[in-house]
Order: sequence, then structure tokens, then C-alpha cells
Amino acid sequence: MPDILIRNADHILTMNDARDELRGADILIRDGMIVQVGHGLATDGDVIGAAGCVVTPGLVNTHHHLYQSMTRAVPGGQDALLFGWLKTLYPIWARMGPEEIFVSAQAGLAELALSGCSMTSDHLYLYPNGARLDDTIAAAAEIGLRFHPTRGAMSIGESAGGLPPDALVEKETAILDDCIRVIDAHHDPHEGAMLRVGVAPCSPFSVSRELMRDAALLARDKGVMLHTHLAENDEDVAYSLATFGCRPGQYAEDLGWVGDDVWHAHCVKLDGQEIELFARTRTGAAHCPCSNCRLGSGIAPLRAMRDAGLRVGLGVDGSASNDTGNLVLEARQAMLLQRVARGADAMSAREALEIATRGGAEVLGRHDCGRIAPGKRADLAIWDVGGFESAGSWDPAALLLAGPVGVRDLLVEGRTVVRDGRMVTLDLRAVLARQRALAARLAGGA
Ligand SMILES: [Zn+2]
Repeated sequence: MPDILIRNADHILTMNDARDELRGADILIRDGMIVQVGHGLATDGDVIGAAGCVVTPGLVNTHHHLYQSMTRAVPGGQDALLFGWLKTLYPIWARMGPEEIFVSAQAGLAELALSGCSMTSDHLYLYPNGARLDDTIAAAAEIGLRFHPTRGAMSIGESAGGLPPDALVEKETAILDDCIRVIDAHHDPHEGAMLRVGVAPCSPFSVSRELMRDAALLARDKGVMLHTHLAENDEDVAYSLATFGCRPGQYAEDLGWVGDDVWHAHCVKLDGQEIELFARTRTGAAHCPCSNCRLGSGIAPLRAMRDAGLRVGLGVDGSASNDTGNLVLEARQAMLLQRVARGADAMSAREALEIATRGGAEVLGRHDCGRIAPGKRADLAIWDVGGFESAGSWDPAALLLAGPVGVRDLLVEGRTVVRDGRMVTLDLRAVLARQRALAARLAGGA
């Protein structure tokens, strides 16, 4: 692959250790890696002009359910709280299969890429009608995003006092066996990996205490990360107190679910002690502000988490509870929501961008990504700030204070995924047509 030079960017927000910001500067890429950042660089290879643009590290999404891209704006779930929302959607999801999982992943990943996301996790916790984690992995490989799928699971159905219908739950031995299968088949522990697998029982209210414990043991044995939903809303905390006799943080700690190889989605209702526990143990959190607004879950204590040193990334969450999957808008929402709670100085645009890039990469254990510095992977988002959304802006903070809401170019491992605002690795029109047809079939109940 020839070298690539990104030339003459108006601003480069490096998110390096010094948080350097360069004007009129260049980035040289070789073999998928950033080798030089500075002024007046030259190459015999390819050149991407970046005049009029802000360049940031590619954004990192730390929580998603790609399969939900097939069930946006479902009428019965539009105005319900978390548990009621789930009960509306479970029977619809139970009608999906491998094709729906693959196509919804294609569409969801394209949506992320177009909003500047170069690396995403996914949390797939139901496997109806022969669907497999491999279906999402195939979609990500085709598109070229860096992918951290997690093998989710539910094991306690309605007949055993759980929330999901029995048809959507699996036996715990089968869950653990399939976790081992997908890790052995796909997980790449090496620096620069395009794919890492995690283990992710859906939530404390849909699996047993034993599965939570065994999943943690398995993940540590295999050297992979752990992920689940935690302390999402008041119902969630009440369930924990009533069923386990403790708050979610205590439950997580008791079962081995703290550490720098663990990240929890939402954490809206963490109290001061739980924030201190997660900060002390280097446990990560995926903050999902749009989903939290959409489901009325509350405002996560993001300011307090950051001040305590808790590692936080952003997540768009599934498209049944957002219902968009635009990651740069998610960063804007994170900034705005803290200001609602704590005042206009509670979170700057730069801090929200840092959480969306470097922060997310750290949560996913990727110190080789999320910043623009020699030796880091060449995952870069190039934003044209000459358009109507941000014209007249004085500072690159306009990226969150104004726009744009889509990336001009996106590079992942030095390869172009988006060029001039269009997917180059996917026929998006064909994917959307297929998605519409499959969603209509699901809506028809066929
Ligand atoms: Zn979620």
C-alpha cells in the first residue's frame, strides 16, 4: 500500500498526551499507521487535501446493538420506559434471523462510518432462528470498520421470572460454549487488530448470577474484555436491590465484574461509592446520552465520573432506543446534557470530543487508537467545516457546537471507508433497500 499524506488541514485535534492542536498541518500514514504529524511533510504516495477541514481521530463507539437498526420507531415502544420497551420489542426481535442480523449490521455500521466512527463495539445478545455473532463480523469486515463485537446472552426467560420470552433465551452451557467458539475463531489480541471479541451477558436481570461469574472467569482465561448493561435506570436499581439485595456496583464487584478489562453500558444511576469503585478499579463506562434521554432513564453523572478519573467512552446504543446511530451527534448530546444538569461550563466541546475519541479507545483497551500521534493506527476523520452548518465559526469547537453532522472522509487503518461523504466499501442504496424490505416483513409479522 502506498504512503498517504493528509495535507494542509486547517486544524488537527490530535488528542495526544499534550492535547496538541496544529494549524495548516499534515499527517503521513504508512502501512496503516501514523508515522509523522507536522508541517511541510512530503510523499511520493497518495495525497488527500484537507484545506478547509478539521481532522480528528476517528470516533469510537463503545455501545451498540446493531441488529436494532431493523426496528426503529416501533409504535408500541416509542414512549415506554426500559422494561416496557423491551417487552414490546422482544417478540419482534424473535422473528429475526441471520439475514436480518447481517443487513442491519451493514446499515448500522455505515451510519456510524458516515458520522466519523472508525471503531465500534457491538452487543448482540439474542440469536433467533440460527443467527450468529459471525453474521455481524462478516458485515464489519466488508465495510472495513475496526470491530469489537461482544457475544451477548440471555438465559432467564419469563417462565423463570426473567423479562425476555423463553424463545429468546439460551442454555448457559451453550452460551459459554459459543463464547469460546467465537473467541477462538475471531479474536485478535495483537496491536493494530481489526477485530476483538468480548463476552457480554445482556444484563443482571436477564442472566443468572452463575453465568455472570462464569463469563468473567472465561473472559479472563481467554484474555478478552467483559461488557454488560448496568444501573441503567431506577427500575434496574430496584430490581438489583429486590433480587440480589445490593446495588448494581456491589453486584458487579462480587462477581468479578470490575477491572480495566470490563466496561459497563449506561451507568446512569451510579452513586458516589460506585463511581469511586469503578474509578479505583479502572472499570470503564459507555455513556449513551441519546438513549438515556429517549427512554427517560436520567442524566448519567458524567462530570462526576470524569472528575473521579473513571474511564468513559460514548455509545449510540441500539437504534430501537436512540433511534439514530450518529456518533458525532452523540458527542454533542453528551456535552449538552451535562450542561442541562450542571451549567454551561460543565463540559466543553473539546472534552466531549476527547471522550468520543481517545476516551472510547481507552475504554475498549485500545491504546493504539484514538489519538493522532506517530505509532498510532491511522484511524482518522476529516470534517469539512466550510459548509452551511459551520460556516462563520471561529474555532474547531464548532464541530460539536455547530456541525457538520457527517464526515467528509474516514480512514480506518489507513484505508478509505468514506470519501466525499459517501461509502466507498458498500453499495449503501442496495443495503437500505434490502433493510426496508426486511423491516417491512418484520412489521407484517410474516
Ligand atoms: Zn444497550
